[in-house]
Amino acid sequence: IKKIGVLTSGGDSPGMNAAIRSVVRTCAYHGIECVGIYRGYQGLIEGDFKEMGPRSVNNIVNKGGTILKSARSAEFRTAEGRKKAYDNVVKAGMDALVVIGGDGSFTGGLVFNSEYNFPVMGIPGTIDNDIFGTSHTLGYDTALNTVVDCIDKIRDTASSHNRLFFVEVMGRDAGHIALNAGIGAGAEEILIPEENLGLDRLLESLKKSKASGKSSSIVVIAEGDKIGKNVFELKDYVDANLPEYDVRVSVLGHMQRGGAPSCFDRVLASRLGVKAVESLLEGKSNLMVGLLEDKVTLTPLEQAIKGKSEIDRDLLRVSDIMTT
Ligand code: ATP
Repeated sequence: IKKIGVLTSGGDSPGMNAAIRSVVRTCAYHGIECVGIYRGYQGLIEGDFKEMGPRSVNNIVNKGGTILKSARSAEFRTAEGRKKAYDNVVKAGMDALVVIGGDGSFTGGLVFNSEYNFPVMGIPGTIDNDIFGTSHTLGYDTALNTVVDCIDKIRDTASSHNRLFFVEVMGRDAGHIALNAGIGAGAEEILIPEENLGLDRLLESLKKSKASGKSSSIVVIAEGDKIGKNVFELKDYVDANLPEYDVRVSVLGHMQRGGAPSCFDRVLASRLGVKAVESLLEGKSNLMVGLLEDKVTLTPLEQAIKGKSEIDRDLLRVSDIMTT
């Protein structure tokens, strides 16, 4: 392998830049070339490339988003699109690809590999932490810190006015962000898709919280939770059933996706980038680099896509105990 291409695809996440930097510099360290591909698979199709050396990634380790831009490419889902991509890759002399993204991006990489036998290595980049084969995806730790910071601020208002806040957080179909940030910020209840609390128990819990003398309440709701009402409907429901509460809603939204990556995400990105490039140099392919028990590991992309990243059930109990 003499030249590796790197792209970011799907939703951006903090730490993607640190991973690009790591891939570029690991290539340079091993004396091979590196090509940055703009706008994910769409840039691959359009030949939107830039040769990258160690100095082209100066001062990005601390930046959110991705300097290579990200995109979703409908054309890459077609055989014709992927043929164009392959022709460009050959023309540019690339002989392997590092894909930084989520499970959709990995699926695209696998399809490309199956058609052209082109080596592909995945780095998990999403704040949702919903990828099997790694305890942490890039951006997840940063997002947790962002959410905790926001809830701390909301708590100031909640306790000054004796209010109940429903705070909706991201996470797609997974409750990792809600559960961990909820515990970190001392939420009274946490609603996650993996465990449907149910409306009755939510009301019970809020009544108990009020009776125990708490002056404010924060309920963290994962965007994918299964309670059957969206966050605004939940407010209406609690308004109607617990008039003693003054309820407000805060949907944190995209602020969770941005910002400077935490130290943890920067170190993780650096480690994963090194492993991705060195694994390609060892002739490996179709794998995702990840972190398990603080060791950098390799998981077949197929498993990473199909497997489910389970939440830590012990945390549910911890959360229960903390709200006593
Ligand atoms: P996020 O979790 O942030 O959404 P993702 O990587 O899962 O990230 P997707 O939009 O699902 O994001 O996928 C990114 C891109 O990967 C798609 O726009 C498409 O170009 C490519 N891709 C996804 N699935 C396939 C597939 N089955 N065949 C070919 N390409 C695909």
